[in-house]
Amino acid sequence: MTATRVLVINSGSSSVKYQLLDMRDHSRLAVGLVERIGERSSRLRHTPGRGGEVRERTGPIADHASALKSVAEELAADGLGLDSPELAAIGHRVVHGGKRFTEPTVIDEPVLKEIERLIPVAPLHNPANLTGIRTALALRPDLPQVAVFDTAFHTTMPEAAARYAIDVETADAHRVRRYGFHGTSHAYVSRETAKLLGRAPQEVNVIVLHLGNGASASAVRGGRCVDTSMGLTPLEGLVMGTRSGDVDPAVVFHLKRVGGMSADEIDVLLNTRSGLVGLCGDNDMREIRRRIDEGDERAQLAFDVYIHRLKKYIGAYYAVLGRVDAVVFTAGVGENAAPVREAALAGLEGLGLEVDPALNTARADGPRVISPEGARVVVAVVPTDEELEIATQTYALVGGGSA
Ligand code: ADP
Repeated sequence: MTATRVLVINSGSSSVKYQLLDMRDHSRLAVGLVERIGERSSRLRHTPGRGGEVRERTGPIADHASALKSVAEELAADGLGLDSPELAAIGHRVVHGGKRFTEPTVIDEPVLKEIERLIPVAPLHNPANLTGIRTALALRPDLPQVAVFDTAFHTTMPEAAARYAIDVETADAHRVRRYGFHGTSHAYVSRETAKLLGRAPQEVNVIVLHLGNGASASAVRGGRCVDTSMGLTPLEGLVMGTRSGDVDPAVVFHLKRVGGMSADEIDVLLNTRSGLVGLCGDNDMREIRRRIDEGDERAQLAFDVYIHRLKKYIGAYYAVLGRVDAVVFTAGVGENAAPVREAALAGLEGLGLEVDPALNTARADGPRVISPEGARVVVAVVPTDEELEIATQTYALVGGGSA
């Protein structure tokens, strides 16, 4: 029997998301989430594929090991246990791969050490990712397990885009450079966009706008990333749900010296109490649009700041690429919020960028073009699928297919 299944694990600090995919047809055999690990009110929500009924477990789940054990039990109950010979590999999302990991990588002890070495630049994410990996390795030490890095797609950025203009020795001593994140999504969406255009990825230049709760833009030339908006951490760039995106770095010194805040307090402010939530109290674009319709000025301000920044990045990446074949919207906001797409491109007709109002607001699921017939640049909506991309890269690496 050929092994054609891949389990994708995304392990966060208090949650584990998972999907089991059949790589023959990319179908989901199971999708689930364990939340609030380490609390009394932990919850496992397991959705079997092919219309099976959702199952929930509540009650304390002490740690990631217990969480993964419960996941394994749920999978086994559907005849999809981790010991199944049809399981080809496990693919793990790892947030930070530094400069070293430019590709998905089969996990062994030296790889684990290197991911650990990157903890200082990803203190929130890499430890949680590592816990997930170690737990899965304990359950199936014999099975190939692959790390797929959020940063990998961006390692092709030229130095001119990856360097901050600060003292080189200081920067290098502390590994301070622009790494970029959401790479799995940017890779998947830029490739799917080429497909939508009926061309090879090597032939097209694309600006990808990944607008979820976290948000980032990338400039992709011929399938390779040449610039992206997130930097050393996911804080840089676009206005996000709770993150500020770009600010003058002196804001930090000012808040410390004049505002009397500590580095940790400023970190929390810029990462969790800024962006849309900081500007208007809401980070859900649906709620913000509803408030705007009621004439709420704070919501309008938040929307305007969000759009202004987005438009600046579209212009910047247009200049970086020189020639743009497509501008693509993806993730929760990008896929669903027609007013964001319309406003972001308003006034850019001179650059060949236009949105057809009817196509933009039409309800649809798959990848679709929303620019008018014959437009110089294609504007499109391409749903992202990070789990499928992780599974595809994992499967290709263990010899199951081509990415
Ligand atoms: P993440 O993966 O970063 O948590 P998602 O890509 O799932 O985020 O995006 C979540 C965000 O998408 C929500 O916070 C909300 O702002 C936005 N969103 C989801 N659905 C809609 C919709 N129908 N209209 C407008 N915005 C939406």
